[in-house]
Amino acid sequence: MRKTILALVAHNDDQVIGAGGTLAKYAKMGKKVRTIIFSFGEGSHPHLKREVIVRARVQESLKADKIMGGNGIAYLGLKEGHFYEEFKSKKTLKKILDIVKEENPELILTHSLDDPHPDHQAVYNLVYDLWKRKKIQCDVFSFEIWNPLRIRKRNVPKLIVDISDTFETKIKAVMAHKSQKVAIGALFWNIWLKAKWYGLKTGYKYAEIFHRIY
Ligand SMILES: [Zn+2]
Repeated sequence: MRKTILALVAHNDDQVIGAGGTLAKYAKMGKKVRTIIFSFGEGSHPHLKREVIVRARVQESLKADKIMGGNGIAYLGLKEGHFYEEFKSKKTLKKILDIVKEENPELILTHSLDDPHPDHQAVYNLVYDLWKRKKIQCDVFSFEIWNPLRIRKRNVPKLIVDISDTFETKIKAVMAHKSQKVAIGALFWNIWLKAKWYGLKTGYKYAEIFHRIY
C-alpha cells in the first residue's frame, strides 16, 4: 500500500515554505502526500471581501499542491488568531482525527515549538497534544525555524532531506501563491538562503531540516 505523508499547517503556503521540497520528493518517490490547512488565510487581505480571498487562496494552494505532486488538501476553515477557541469545537478535532485514521500516515510534518507565530504555535500545540495522548502514533517532525539567536539548544533527532532535485519544484509551488506576491519577493531569498545553508551544513546542494517532537 502507498504510504502517506501528512502535513498539518495553519495557512495555505506554510507546508510549501516549510516542507515543499520534501513533500515534492516524497510524492516523486510514489508516496501519497496530503495536507490539512487549518485556516483559509483570509487575514492576508483585510480590505478584500472574505469570499474573494478565500476562493483565491484555495485555488492557489491547490495549484501549489498539484505542482508538488500532492494528493489534495483538507481545509478546516478556522478563524485566524482564534485557533484555540475553534479547537474546543469537537468538529475540528474529529475532522483531523478522521483524516489521520483514514490515511494512517507514516510521517506527519507540522509547525515548530519555536515558531513565534500564534497560529503556528496553536497548530503545534494541538498536534503535540494529540501525539502525547497517542491519538497520533506515527513519527511527527516539525519544520526547522530559522533563528540565529536560538534560545533552546536541544539535541533532538533531525530529519535531513536532500531536496536538490525538488528545490525548483518548491520554488514553483511558492510562486503559485500569487496573491501573496509582496510577501513572496522577500520570502524567495529567505527560502533560497535557508535551503542553501542547510545544504551546506549537511553536504547537499539544497536541504530541508525537521526536528522530531518530543
Ligand atoms: Zn502560516
